Amino acid sequence: MKNQHFIQRDLASVWHPCTQMKDHENQLPLIPIKRGEGIWLEDFEGRRYIDGISSWWVNLFGHANPRINAAIIAQLQQLEHVILAGFSHEPVIELSEKLIAITPKDLTRCFYADNGSSAIEVALKMSFHYWQNQGQLKKTRFITLQHSYHGETLGALAVGDVALYKKTYKPLLMESFIVPSPAGCDAESGESYADYAQRQFEIMARLLAEKAEEISAVIVEPLIQCAGGMRIYDPIYLCLLRQACDHYGVHLIADEIAVGFGRTGTLFACEQAEISPDFLCLSKGLTGGYLPLSVILTRENIYQAFYQNDERLGFLHSHSYTGNPLACQAALATLAIFEQDQVIENNKNLAKTLQEALTPLRDHPHVGDVRQLGMIAAVELVADKARRVPYPAQERRGLQFYRAALDQGALLRPLGNVIYFMPPYVITAAQLQDLVTIAHRAIDIATHV
Ligand SMILES: *Cc1c(COP(=O)(O)O)cnc(C)c1O
Repeated sequence: MKNQHFIQRDLASVWHPCTQMKDHENQLPLIPIKRGEGIWLEDFEGRRYIDGISSWWVNLFGHANPRINAAIIAQLQQLEHVILAGFSHEPVIELSEKLIAITPKDLTRCFYADNGSSAIEVALKMSFHYWQNQGQLKKTRFITLQHSYHGETLGALAVGDVALYKKTYKPLLMESFIVPSPAGCDAESGESYADYAQRQFEIMARLLAEKAEEISAVIVEPLIQCAGGMRIYDPIYLCLLRQACDHYGVHLIADEIAVGFGRTGTLFACEQAEISPDFLCLSKGLTGGYLPLSVILTRENIYQAFYQNDERLGFLHSHSYTGNPLACQAALATLAIFEQDQVIENNKNLAKTLQEALTPLRDHPHVGDVRQLGMIAAVELVADKARRVPYPAQERRGLQFYRAALDQGALLRPLGNVIYFMPPYVITAAQLQDLVTIAHRAIDIATHV
């Protein structure tokens, strides 16, 4: 069977995520994938693509990783799934113990869901419900950062700030307080990332001082606002935020769904600010990109506020596949690779290779900014380099880039006009260099250089 066969059948029955389906008429190629191996995806005609964005940021150790495959197969012979209310199983117990051991200190309890957005819903509900159980009935609001992204369900959208995904649904959403982003790409020329983050924090500090008694929690993506355009900020912001949240009695929710598991150079991004949040949300890389699973870690005092004789004071939230054993085994196998393989160390070298490979792009006439933190790098395309004027969205330069990269065998799906690299950690230095070379040529094509 050839690609065309699957494309026709697909377009007659499948509605794809985050896609204007009409684009598939001619602008956007649909690519049916037959198999994956390591960093490679292969279609039905033998064409191969480097998975430069880890299949939407989930894959860490390559497709069809033998160690993760083996763990899932072994679990499959034993138990595929069981209700997690009133019942338990070994993989979920072991995974909880491991996560508590490796995450920032004071996080002692694991609650499971099955995707990132649901994890955010859980953290928001738990924070609110905690204050209700404490008799603090006015704490019903959340603070979030401009350009933040926390998922697509209604609660998660409400604490996000990416207009493309949010605007249409606004009438359905609770209202959050949105404060300016600390991302260094917005700093004045000559101003350091740290200075800018501190300056932007003043607005957060003022809001907390004014409204703390209404605020349940502040939610942030630590160090990189990913879907908002790979916007990187200095850890000082997290340090200041942790202090202020403690001072004013407000929870801090760290959404490490995208940045957790080594993406920013440390196992968790919060480590770089030496802080522990009140809620830590993890998903995406948690299972190495194999199966849907998410987890919310929280502190003992929060857990204890629900530990009561009255059923209604408990946290009566669930999903059908909460804590699925196959997914937990994939997560355990993923964590075992981190333990056995010096992953964080190796990534330091890969990040350096990536940085060096990207250097020539800084001089490109249509590149406005090149930024990187660990295993995430972004290149912003602009119409006017000197004044950093963006391309009009309707020119769809990002889409032109995407097609040009695919033609050369790389999957690099941009965010608007922001090209980014988030490769699986099993990529080699040479392959990483190839990926950037492809991106460079594709940028030339998309910007007509
Ligand atoms: C992807 C993402 C989510 C949502 O996760 P889903 O599994 O897609 O629902 C939430 N927060 C961040 C930071 C993300 O990158």
